[in-house]
Amino acid sequence: LVVQDFENFTSEIIKIFEECKKETNLGGANASYIPQLSKVDPNLFGLSICTLDGQRFLLGDFEKSFSIQSCIKPLIYCMALEENGEQFIKNHIGREPSGVAFNSLTLNRENLPHNPMINSGAIMSCSLIKRNLCTSERFEHINQILRKLSGDKQWGFNNAIFLSEKETADNNFCLGYMMRKNHCFPEKTNLMDVLDLYFMCCSIETDCNKLAIVGATLANGGVCPLTGEQIFSRETTRDCISLMYSCGMYDYSGEWAFTIGIPAKSSVSGGIYTVIPNFGSISLFSPAINDTGNSVKGVQFFKKFIQKFTLHNFDKC
Ligand code: GLU
Repeated sequence: LVVQDFENFTSEIIKIFEECKKETNLGGANASYIPQLSKVDPNLFGLSICTLDGQRFLLGDFEKSFSIQSCIKPLIYCMALEENGEQFIKNHIGREPSGVAFNSLTLNRENLPHNPMINSGAIMSCSLIKRNLCTSERFEHINQILRKLSGDKQWGFNNAIFLSEKETADNNFCLGYMMRKNHCFPEKTNLMDVLDLYFMCCSIETDCNKLAIVGATLANGGVCPLTGEQIFSRETTRDCISLMYSCGMYDYSGEWAFTIGIPAKSSVSGGIYTVIPNFGSISLFSPAINDTGNSVKGVQFFKKFIQKFTLHNFDKC
């Protein structure tokens, strides 16, 4: 067993969860760039754990659907890597933290996206998945892989979010044009189709239960712990997890790597899922986010968690 005394472990998790749930002075507010996100109940709070050997634990609003937003970014990067290989992808997406906001209108010195965890990089990932297929088939392909990553769970889609993302996307259009101007995209890329696919990806509905299974699949070298199916190669997951570690938590990534020391990805919708080596994944959902874009309750939970458990990447050094 990955966690010998699972009952004792989860009773500690319940304590931390309840403490965070009660906290009322953490500040933060729902993302408001589209109305659909600002309308979500800010007090929702869910947790899900999936270990490498399939031990499960669920708390609170673990089944509450929310739009995946940036939590999709590591996964579409894996899909692009898996299909094209690391050498090819390297010529389209960098691997350095950007040091600027996730939607910033900048590219790196080679005029490429800094990394796949920010908008420019995720738009580029979309352009690199099944590029000979039409948008609907590409979206279907992405959904199929998500289903497998989460142990055969069905993922939803929020059309209102999709339409709002598209309507308020000047920034993402701008990034798309900057990249096209600099010839970053693969040949024959249709920019409008790629942006549509990116907006669709952000609008996929998930919940923390699915994200914990996905996180555990990544932590397990690409093999889903619930089905035993290999979805991504070990190399793909290693590459992706490395970038989750250095770039996964927006402008808080350095501080998070320092204090929490666990690869993770967050979204403006309030999701955070972790990839904990030799353990699996803990995922959280709570919609109020701070000014770096991370769920306030989520960050608070992991601060307390890492004080209790020696799961910081370098705890055992
Ligand atoms: N949908 C957002 C955008 O493209 C990204 C959301 C996120 O960072 O979670 O601006």
